[in-house]
Amino acid sequence: MSLVSERAAVAADIPFVDLTAQQAEIMPEIEPLVLELLRSGAFIGGAAVMEFERAYAASVGVKHCVGVANGTDALQLALRASGIGPGDEVIVPANTFIATAEAVSLTGAMPVLVDVDPVHLLIDPDAVAAAVTARTRAIIPVHLYGQVAAVEALEPIAECAGALIIEDAAQAQGATRHGRGAGSLGAIAGTSFYPGKNLGAAGDAGAVTTDDEELADRVRLIGGHGSRAKYEHETVGTNSRLDALQAVVLKAKLERLSGWNEARRAAAVRYGELLAGTAVGVPESMPGNVDVWHLYVVRVQNRAKAIEALAGAGIGTGIHYPTPVHLTEAYRSLGHERGAFPVAERAAEEILSLPMFPHLTAAQQERVAEVLLGAVG
Ligand SMILES: *Cc1c(COP(=O)(O)O)cnc(C)c1O
Repeated sequence: MSLVSERAAVAADIPFVDLTAQQAEIMPEIEPLVLELLRSGAFIGGAAVMEFERAYAASVGVKHCVGVANGTDALQLALRASGIGPGDEVIVPANTFIATAEAVSLTGAMPVLVDVDPVHLLIDPDAVAAAVTARTRAIIPVHLYGQVAAVEALEPIAECAGALIIEDAAQAQGATRHGRGAGSLGAIAGTSFYPGKNLGAAGDAGAVTTDDEELADRVRLIGGHGSRAKYEHETVGTNSRLDALQAVVLKAKLERLSGWNEARRAAAVRYGELLAGTAVGVPESMPGNVDVWHLYVVRVQNRAKAIEALAGAGIGTGIHYPTPVHLTEAYRSLGHERGAFPVAERAAEEILSLPMFPHLTAAQQERVAEVLLGAVG
């Protein structure tokens, strides 16, 4: 082998996420269905959407699923259907994708940020209890990185405050806590099927899940221009629906989700073994959880050096998220200074997301660990 091809064989690029293998798995199944749908012209609603909604509700373990246009809408509609709007406060973790807070702002309510716990970086129940006011109407635990938040610890706080628990389940499709699905643990939940999520569409999509028929009905009403019968509008709604084409893709992927999540868990175990006892801090599941590792987030002291070494070896990484919500320009108006949420702020400087996707191979993981440890070990 020449030096050049040897190098290429050893050091083929390892992407942060690779969706092509997932797509290849479902292509034979969806191709005829997509073509049939395109020929039929029935693009909105219809059997494909209903079938997916039924299947997704069953997979989460709830009675109702309403498909919507994206995850941000899912959260916004869950909030609006719960009667939340101007003058209300909704408690949200500072370490999350900004969409969690945006969904609150879009209803006219105010996001009240709180810090996260230092181990899992999930919403801190003590911080939630301290942030409750007379205006608190909801608490949004985010099942970040595919780890289910301890929703049961928020229940007494929510009950005492007369607030609802609304889950952000966008990163946790298929995850469970004490045997119950993420998205079934609160009053209502929003999830996202953005292509990179564990269950991803071929574009934007999302869903609301709940056991509450009235809430599900209101989500559908608001997402359909406030109308049950054509041109009879009983409330000012919006347009947020799941496209039939996305439902076809999602249904095919949902059938494979548990296998793909199993592969992610195996990869997480392997990373744990490869990085055990080193300077790299590895994540661990909370007892009672079956997590789905949407992201595999380690902690390192010299992150810039790690990223540089990994990038130099053709290995993709991410940071989720580099700026806690309160330090973004968008939410400067909330008035929090640096230091307001020290756990989230410190995490933002140390966290590093390693390549993680169902088709990641053991050899690829060994290479990631080798390069990472070479830089910071
Ligand atoms: C992806 C994501 C969302 C928003 O979903 P979109 O479909 O992109 O609107 C909300 N919350 C979290 C935690 C997410 O990761």
